Amino acid sequence: MIKSQNTKNLFMIFVDRDGTLIKDTGYIKDPSEIKILPNTVEGLKKITSLGAAVIMITNQSGISRGYFDLPQVVHLNEVIMKRLSASGCKFADIQICPHGPNDGCGCRKPKTGLLRKASKSLNIPLNRSVIVGDRETDIAAGLNAGIPGILISSDKSNYNFGQYSTAADMLEAAYIIERLAIENSWILDV
Ligand SMILES: [Zn+2]
Repeated sequence: MIKSQNTKNLFMIFVDRDGTLIKDTGYIKDPSEIKILPNTVEGLKKITSLGAAVIMITNQSGISRGYFDLPQVVHLNEVIMKRLSASGCKFADIQICPHGPNDGCGCRKPKTGLLRKASKSLNIPLNRSVIVGDRETDIAAGLNAGIPGILISSDKSNYNFGQYSTAADMLEAAYIIERLAIENSWILDV
């Protein structure tokens, strides 16, 4: 059994935002556009119950492109968090890359800056983590950091980006994560 909330998180699950937690309608800026994807709440709850720290990792190049600003993204994230936490989901951290593809930053996925930053701030090593996302850049960020990726895709046959596994939604991803966590002894049995 996992001990109560005082138990230190033993591993991290990096979760992409657009297309993974919420419907990706392209450069979302208005909270009215937020649609939490089916089975996201159930999946996040299961992941949290395993003792994992859940971290949102999101590329928001719309900031660099001038479509919206950082405070708007932060506000949108807060609205998402509020809705998810009302359903019992908890996030340990949120990491945002505000840059565009030509800004030469070290944090825009598939670069690993955001993963490393979260790893450092939570003091959990990267080799105890999994990344979940709907795009090749998410999977590639995982590969670049040496961590397994789970691709969220309704079409399981078409995409091979080098992911560890493919899941239809967050709940299916949670079951894959559970197996990985057991295999790697990330879950502390007390
Ligand atoms: Zn960046």
